[in-house]
Formats: sequence, C-alpha cells, structure tokens
Amino acid sequence: MIRTKNRACTGKRRHDTQEKAEEHRDRLIANGAVRVAAYQCRNRSCGGWHVGHTPKPRTTR
Ligand SMILES: [Zn+2]
Repeated sequence: MIRTKNRACTGKRRHDTQEKAEEHRDRLIANGAVRVAAYQCRNRSCGGWHVGHTPKPRTTR
C-alpha cells in the first residue's frame, strides 16, 4: 500500500498529460457531471493531472 502525504491524490485517477485528463473530463461531462476540470497536480511526487470539481467561482462584491 502506498501512503501519500497529500490526500488530494488518493482516490483520483492520475493522467500523464493534460490531454488525457481532458479526455477523462469530457467523458465525465458526457455522463452528466458538472463543473469538472482538469488540473495539474500540486503534489510533486505525483506530477500528473487529475480531474476534479472546480471550486466555486468567487464572486467579487
Ligand atoms: Zn496527483
């Protein structure tokens, strides 16, 4: 079992490239997902791309 410090990675599929991640995202959207985006992982030991929900856009007041 691999233990990662950063939880952000666990349970998420890792993609080597942005293109792969965006493919995955498109599939999720086709399946009805909303507001999902491909993003590069912050975890250095990962260095991959993930697909996840985008944070709520900040409304400036
Ligand atoms: Zn990662």
